[in-house]
Amino acid sequence: MPLAETLETRDIQHIWHPCSQMKDHETVPLLTIVSAQGCYLKTDDGSLLFDAISSWWCKSLGHGHPQLKRALKKQLKQFEHVIFAGTTYNAIVELSEKMTQLLPSLNKVFFASDGSSAVEIALKMSLHAHQIAGQNERTRFLALENAYHGETVGALSVSDLGLYKTPYKPLLFPTTFLKNIPYVRGSDDPLWDDCSTEWTAIEQQLNHNSEELSAIIVEPIVQGAGGIKIYSADFLRRLSAWAKKRGIHLIADEIMTGIARTGKMLACEHAGITPDFLCLSKGLTSGFLPMSAVLTTQKIYDYFYDDYDTGRSFLHSHTFSGNALAAAVANETLSIIQTESMEQRARLIGEHMRHAMNTLAEEFPQLSNSRAIGAIAAIDLPKDNRAPRLSLQIAVDAAKNGILLRPIDQTLYWMPPLIAEIADLDQLFHATRKVLKNILT
Ligand code: PMP
Repeated sequence: MPLAETLETRDIQHIWHPCSQMKDHETVPLLTIVSAQGCYLKTDDGSLLFDAISSWWCKSLGHGHPQLKRALKKQLKQFEHVIFAGTTYNAIVELSEKMTQLLPSLNKVFFASDGSSAVEIALKMSLHAHQIAGQNERTRFLALENAYHGETVGALSVSDLGLYKTPYKPLLFPTTFLKNIPYVRGSDDPLWDDCSTEWTAIEQQLNHNSEELSAIIVEPIVQGAGGIKIYSADFLRRLSAWAKKRGIHLIADEIMTGIARTGKMLACEHAGITPDFLCLSKGLTSGFLPMSAVLTTQKIYDYFYDDYDTGRSFLHSHTFSGNALAAAVANETLSIIQTESMEQRARLIGEHMRHAMNTLAEEFPQLSNSRAIGAIAAIDLPKDNRAPRLSLQIAVDAAKNGILLRPIDQTLYWMPPLIAEIADLDQLFHATRKVLKNILT
């Protein structure tokens, strides 16, 4: 029996894969990865696959980056992990110093291990801070339509994707979702700088029960799992000002957008805003190891700073909070991102992808709403296509054509590592075109 078949059979026997309908694998083979370097994964039959989605949006510096490997090995020689309550070490202090330079008013960092946990932490800190301040009525959260903030119960409560959340409704807390978000196709859209025409209707929704709000949570500028939707920077600016005026916290979930992905170090910079909480993960370690963090202000920190007996401590912990190997890699990732001006690189490769996506839009009239920002480009697949599971068909055919794509429902998108070369992107364009030709015509 060939090795790949053996491995796949053994896998299917015991493993339940994330975000998958396992029955699909009766017909869809698992890709057996034997190595990964730069933007490419190598499968057991020797084929190379261009990682067009940065392995769930995290591999900003690609796979196997030599400097990150070196940083990892260096830390491994010292120690790999110790309890992070009551201890400290060099790599994490250096990392926190770099992170608090991102937005200087966010000068406190709380570490966790994945994106969903970071969202839970921000929600809990917000609610708890209001309680300490005597604002016990501030118990609700507001999020945007099409929001996605993760899979744990709190994160799912503030997410707006029925498919992911409906079965678990009995567990979830009620959240208000803001409708009629001014979506745009890019920063050249007139709504990007001025959404005043839309704002009045939005403000009417906001004014409803605003005194009960603890925080507004947003994915700044780009909503990821909700279908790679880009919205007006002016809207984010107005929303932030509205919240600030009323003492409502703003939580910026930059788990996908943060660390140069949108062409700025943080997507919040597009709107010139500073949130009360900033959640980071994914690109923070360039996807080497799991790590997330919540940054917040001195003001929030001070609410919790008191004698133990007052009960004001933030008693939240994860076993792997502040993991040393992840911290060493994150520290090096931030150095590389900054010294190699990766925001600029994201804009450069993004411009190329924007043109390529527009070319596909012209060639295939079934596609609509081509959009792009930073190193993200997306387009919508036809809704009325009679072929079932178009997104799955595209993913399967893409793998046969040397690219790893995983459309989200009706949205096909590219979010490659920021180190991708123009030649890689040209290959991505040609392969995507071939797949679309195979499937749509
Ligand atoms: N927030 C956003 C914006 C995300 O894109 C994701 C993951 N796709 C999460 C939160 C959850 O992160 P994790 O999968 O690491 O729990």
